[in-house]
Amino acid sequence: MARVRELLDDGIARLRESGSETARLDAELLLAHALDTDRTAILAHTDAPVGDGSAARFEASLDRRAAGEPVAYIRGIKEFHGLAFGVDPRALIPRPETERLVELAELEVMRRLLGAPRPAGSPPVRVIDVGVGSGAVAVTLAVLLRRRRMLEEVALAATDVSEDALQLARENAVAHAVGDRIEFSAADLLSGSDTTPWDVVAANLPYVRSATMPNLPVAASFEPAMALDGGPDGLAVIGRLLDQLPSGLAHGGVALLEIGGDQEAELQALVTERLPGWSCEVERDLGGLPRVAVLRREGTDAGAPPA
Ligand code: GLN
Repeated sequence: MARVRELLDDGIARLRESGSETARLDAELLLAHALDTDRTAILAHTDAPVGDGSAARFEASLDRRAAGEPVAYIRGIKEFHGLAFGVDPRALIPRPETERLVELAELEVMRRLLGAPRPAGSPPVRVIDVGVGSGAVAVTLAVLLRRRRMLEEVALAATDVSEDALQLARENAVAHAVGDRIEFSAADLLSGSDTTPWDVVAANLPYVRSATMPNLPVAASFEPAMALDGGPDGLAVIGRLLDQLPSGLAHGGVALLEIGGDQEAELQALVTERLPGWSCEVERDLGGLPRVAVLRREGTDAGAPPA
């Protein structure tokens, strides 16, 4: 019977050959998956024998990975902000840089709940995740707010044009016990969702330039193109959302939009053009790249123009 170490070494060599830049990590994750355990257990027991069934499952996973399929789709799971999300080709695999978007959304909700006295019976803070995909943003936000005992004071919604993505997002919401706390609806951005304006809009929309799509890593070709392709300048879908914000975002509201690391200036120009008078700052991700545009609509909830 083969041992963990041999299988790993073979797997790593094979994945290196196929061009994976993370061959060791990939092989460790896939062997752990085949053995129904986690990576640490693999690394702690390199002498352990591996049964033929598990070895065969590992081989099959290596075949898929060598053909370019992302490890996350092979495992069916991706970790995001410390939570495990079910993933499959119905939606984009959550990326670590998107954790920043969730953190900023959480902060915005906290500011609204803690920043001023809230008399009993105050309306909930209204938050929507536009283009929910796997549900990583909305579900993580719900889990974080529940830990802070704030979820009851938040009305959380999520939209996507893809019924497939919505279904996956619902599954992830149920898995994290927030299935009844997020209002999912099939909608193009904000249109068709509840028409009461939102206090916080969070969105990780497609923003890759169409011409760049073929240059993405092979793994991305397994993901839905509509979740990545942002049109000729990459900002077509985000631009359409900007056009919906004057009616969709409450006065005093904030829109948090994930963008590409090289799109800061373009996005700023687009906001100046389409939303005159709104402020736009761009927050960086852990890699130091501009990542989340923070658009603020000044004013009061009563809709009065700022003094
Ligand atoms: N950051 C992602 C990538 O480069 C793009 C995600 C998106 O378009 N929203 O693969």
